[in-house]
Amino acid sequence: MLKVRGLSKHFHGREVLRGIDLSIAPGEVVGLIGRSGSGKSTLARCLVGLEQIDAGNISFAGSQIRPGHGSARQQIQYLWQDPTQSLSPYLTAHGAVMETLSGFGIGAPDKRRTRAASLLDALGLSSSLHARRPYALSGGQCQRVALAKALAAKPRFLVLDEPLSSLDLTTQINTIELLRKVQSDTGLAMLIVSHDLAPLKQLANRILVLDDARIAEDIPMQSFFEQATHPLARAYAKTL
Ligand code: ADP
Ligand code: MG
Repeated sequence: MLKVRGLSKHFHGREVLRGIDLSIAPGEVVGLIGRSGSGKSTLARCLVGLEQIDAGNISFAGSQIRPGHGSARQQIQYLWQDPTQSLSPYLTAHGAVMETLSGFGIGAPDKRRTRAASLLDALGLSSSLHARRPYALSGGQCQRVALAKALAAKPRFLVLDEPLSSLDLTTQINTIELLRKVQSDTGLAMLIVSHDLAPLKQLANRILVLDDARIAEDIPMQSFFEQATHPLARAYAKTL
């Protein structure tokens, strides 16, 4: 479904990604792990067409992904590392989800208000929270609103950049449960960026290790602990 060939990207002469090849199949949950500054967020943003690439190509369901060209904008949704970045400060939780439904023309116009409310409910946001703006919501609640907004687009592929890093421990555990439920309910493919292996062990079917601007390891989760060979992958395996 998603195919990346020879993707390279540099900033100010420094190569952050060099000749990246990867594929993601429908319904697959892939974890992307690597040190801070290794280019995980850059790769994630290239995949969703938010970042211009220097070489290579990215295709989704057979069509090229290029920044500013929106054919995949509905089918691929992206959640920023800071959940408030996915949200407008002026829109309520309900308004944020409505914006996606109206923007993509999803469902009959007179059903959208109810649909937006039920998406928020399904992610555990009670109706008393629907009229709140991001500043009046906690980090975990903003995360859920951002997820409801992304799911409203009925995507086939969801990219989550460090979805847990801004959350406290209990909210992290709840979010892992929520993502598992969303995945099993929708069959969405996901790329989950993380600097920590623990949540990926619970969520991902496959792990990509990014190191030195390349994919250093691309391995099924169930083989990771016994068979990963790259030193950084081995080091991650020892953290659990
Ligand atoms: P990670 O998400 O793995 O921590 P990033 O993809 O954010 O890494 O960053 C990789 C490298 O690229 C870092 O050195 C970062 O400073 C640099 N970088 C990221 N985005 C930009 C940008 N828009 N302009 C210049 N440098 C950038
Ligand atoms: Mg990052």
